[in-house]
Amino acid sequence: MHYSELVDMYEELEATTKRLEHTHIISEFLKDVSLEDLGTTLLLLEGRVFPRWDEREIGMASKMMLKAINVASGDTRTRINSEWKKTGDLGTVSYNLIKKKKQSTLGSHELTIDKVLNNLRKLVTIEGQGSVDKKVSLVAELLTSAKPSEAKYIVRTILNDMRIGVGEGSIRDAIVWAFFGKELGIKYNKEEKNIGLEDREKYNEYMDAVQRAYDITNDFGTVTEAAKKHGLNGLGNLSMKVGVPLKAMLALKVDDIEEGFERCGKPAEFEFKYDGMRMQIHKKDSNIKIFTRRLENVTDQFPEVVDYVKKFVHEKEVILDSEAVGYSKKTGKYLPFQSISQRIKRKYDIQKMSEEFPVEINVFDIINYKGKSVINESFEDRKKIIKRIIKNIPKKIKVAKSIVTADKKDVERFYKEAVDSGNEGLMIKKLDAPYKPGARVGFMCKLKGTQENLDLVVVKAEWGEGKRSKWLSSYTLACRDDGKFLEVGKASTGLKEKREEGLSFAEMTDLLKPLIKKEEGKEVILRPKIVIEVGCEEIQKSPTYSSGYALRFPRVIRLRSMDKPPEDATTLKQVEDTYKKQKK
Ligand code: AMP
Repeated sequence: MHYSELVDMYEELEATTKRLEHTHIISEFLKDVSLEDLGTTLLLLEGRVFPRWDEREIGMASKMMLKAINVASGDTRTRINSEWKKTGDLGTVSYNLIKKKKQSTLGSHELTIDKVLNNLRKLVTIEGQGSVDKKVSLVAELLTSAKPSEAKYIVRTILNDMRIGVGEGSIRDAIVWAFFGKELGIKYNKEEKNIGLEDREKYNEYMDAVQRAYDITNDFGTVTEAAKKHGLNGLGNLSMKVGVPLKAMLALKVDDIEEGFERCGKPAEFEFKYDGMRMQIHKKDSNIKIFTRRLENVTDQFPEVVDYVKKFVHEKEVILDSEAVGYSKKTGKYLPFQSISQRIKRKYDIQKMSEEFPVEINVFDIINYKGKSVINESFEDRKKIIKRIIKNIPKKIKVAKSIVTADKKDVERFYKEAVDSGNEGLMIKKLDAPYKPGARVGFMCKLKGTQENLDLVVVKAEWGEGKRSKWLSSYTLACRDDGKFLEVGKASTGLKEKREEGLSFAEMTDLLKPLIKKEEGKEVILRPKIVIEVGCEEIQKSPTYSSGYALRFPRVIRLRSMDKPPEDATTLKQVEDTYKKQKK
């Protein structure tokens, strides 16, 4: 298939933000794609060059891209830079500049989707000395043979920023419309915004089938191939493979023990909620793979875990769900997530890191046993399997600590024990529930203490990208210490796109713009005037910010400037106290 066909669809998608319209455009397109092109098409549609669970990524920075555009278009870097500032999107910049150039040198040959994908994949393999130059010339070559609109999306794919507003949901729906639209009698009517459904139940059944197939394969290419070849049966027959990650089941928050019992029934199982990182562990004989919750492959970063699984998991083929939690070498006590987070991206000194920041694996679920899915077995039975196959070796690998009870008093005691030994709280598990990959259905719930909000001063901000390029959309926050302001983190969530919905990016921009002292690239330094209330999951020690602390998952709650001047903002001491309190 020619790349230009795909690009025409990208353009169509970008021209509207309506979900139904997106679904329609994609489904019409998919109907005509040949079986052999489906895999590539779906990857590129998602703006990917590898399936989401593959550890390889292009990782090309904007600066390098600037160089490539410079080589391909012949324009000066100053010019490219100023275009970038204006549009906030290097894709559009390359479109404009290559268009200008192409008017004089017409006649390049057609790019195919395979050629584009293969070249982008080559970028990943270039390493070592001179790799920057090699990457730049590979991209420049691709851009030179591209039409302007093709160049735009090649650049965006490389930078991992497609701006066509298509999410997993639209793709899933489009697959249903494309391959089962006839059976379901789907007739899309743009004006009336409806699809003329006769049997909603049947429609939902097909949706679930596609979603399920995606949750266990994490690859829309595989899903569409199965749907095109064997219809609904094909989807049903797709099974998980040990070695290919599936989406993790997610937790629902409950406010108290009663609500936990309501959701999960009585009795329920209560487990320590360890504060570490989720690890999905795949074992097939001596071949072990470890994936994060975002399905990144981190096997190489955790050699000791590979070793524990080989030695202490007594079964040849399994997929386990677990939490890896860091502990202090000196005291043996659990440490907050922060302590091990630095291991995730690490490429060198891995052995040293594993000795300095060791982790303990706490297994709490099993997804595959002896090569077969066990997601439809009850949690109770799955837990029995785990206990049978795992040898408990504290500080290495063990079964997550738990009790089964219907008594609130037991839970209160157990909660205290959890928090006293450095954990976040408890997880509550429904005994007769299956494992639902990717779903937040309340079969597992979390119970943890809440954190007080902080009132922080905005000291820097950053201009956004794409749709947000006219707004200051990311805010550096500071607490106060003796008249100085010390940074504790950055927040960009919690604000609204539209003014009428609450505190919006536009309103913040209006407030902050007059306070700009200096611009440095996309970042602006501000006079410290605006105070906002910020919530976060946790406060961590961190060398990144001048306060020595960092907020985990900060979100903006509301503007406080009206009732709180910067002089009354949260102090460093208060940050420290909250940090200590949460450790207790
Ligand atoms: P949260 O990230 O706050 O939504 O809490 C859910 C996360 O807690 C899971 O994704 C796991 O990473 C982690 N976790 C820690 N201990 C457990 C446990 N015993 N069972 C399930 N998840 C756990």
